Amino acid sequence: MSAAALAKAKRIVVKIGSQLLVDPDRGTVHRRWLETLAADVAWLRARGQEVALVSSGAIAVGRRHLGLPNGKLKLQEQQAAAATGMIRLAHAYQEVLGEHDLTVAQVLLTLDDSENRRRYINARNTLMELLSLGAVPLINENDTVATDEIRFGDNDRLAARVAAMMSADLLIILSDIDGLFSANPQRDPDARFIPEVRNEITPEIEAMAGVNLSGDSRGGMVTKIAAAKIAMGAGAETIIALGKEPHPLQRIAAGARCTRFIPKGNPRTARKEWIAGSLKAVGGLTVDAGAARALASGKSLLPAGVIAVEGKFERGDAVAIRNGDGREIGRGLSAYSSADAKRIAGHKTGEIEAILGYRGRDEIVHRDDLVLM
Ligand code: GLU
Repeated sequence: MSAAALAKAKRIVVKIGSQLLVDPDRGTVHRRWLETLAADVAWLRARGQEVALVSSGAIAVGRRHLGLPNGKLKLQEQQAAAATGMIRLAHAYQEVLGEHDLTVAQVLLTLDDSENRRRYINARNTLMELLSLGAVPLINENDTVATDEIRFGDNDRLAARVAAMMSADLLIILSDIDGLFSANPQRDPDARFIPEVRNEITPEIEAMAGVNLSGDSRGGMVTKIAAAKIAMGAGAETIIALGKEPHPLQRIAAGARCTRFIPKGNPRTARKEWIAGSLKAVGGLTVDAGAARALASGKSLLPAGVIAVEGKFERGDAVAIRNGDGREIGRGLSAYSSADAKRIAGHKTGEIEAILGYRGRDEIVHRDDLVLM
């Protein structure tokens, strides 16, 4: 049941489409509806769940304020519209979440932020920090700098990348339809509702998505399925649910019909699989016996336990972790470049700042970024 999935999720990304949020003719935000969404977010937070929002609507809001015509906009018009719309959008979220004493934090991402390792790590760390400080990240594509070749293009996939980046266990895509049908329900009376897709998204499921919508929102069922696929690969469940009613998240909790995409693993196992399977180690860290024992008991690798640093790597690169005999005992993502790792190897965590001149992570390889062989 989707209600149960929502109840047990620890970290949730909610994607809100332009159509739910913005009156396209006036370029205003549907304030009443947004207030009910904010109340739902507050309700989840009060239950101890972390929530990040991925919201569209910058272009839809901004275009009216700039007096841009109806119809398809040129790229630079979209960028200008987004620049003026995003402030208004963020302001609306700030006001409605503020009513519940929740702090909103705007994060604008580009495709590069999810594909370039260093930027990915920065974005991930910032989002994690915001959540741990109790803020609600409000994420959108950085439309003003994203050009056609280098953009996510639609916020469904952006939301899925964000869910993966944050190791979220649930992605909720609020849509103008309550889920996936075997065919377009508006045209085909035999269209069946699909309540659940498990383990993989087959070409047959993809074929059900049909064609896309138009207007300022770029999504459609096609991009929602693509998003569900990305999330599934990252071990996150996706729920596609009807968003336009008030309290869209409480509706899910109350058992409203929606489609679930249930992955095999979870974000932890997916991340570890990714580290173990798809990343090539570009360097190595040799650790002492004490550190090897600590790793085996589930701890992180601290600089104090590192006796040698091999190769040249950047922060966030995968490294092989070897014991004193040179045997690879694990693989992980290094929180420091090889140059910095060499300088702090063998030193206590408390000394890092004095040695490097900045305060980095306590661990050289955090246990979440580590797979033991
Ligand atoms: N980033 C765009 C906006 O805020 C929306 C993209 C989408 O609708 O998927 O207007």
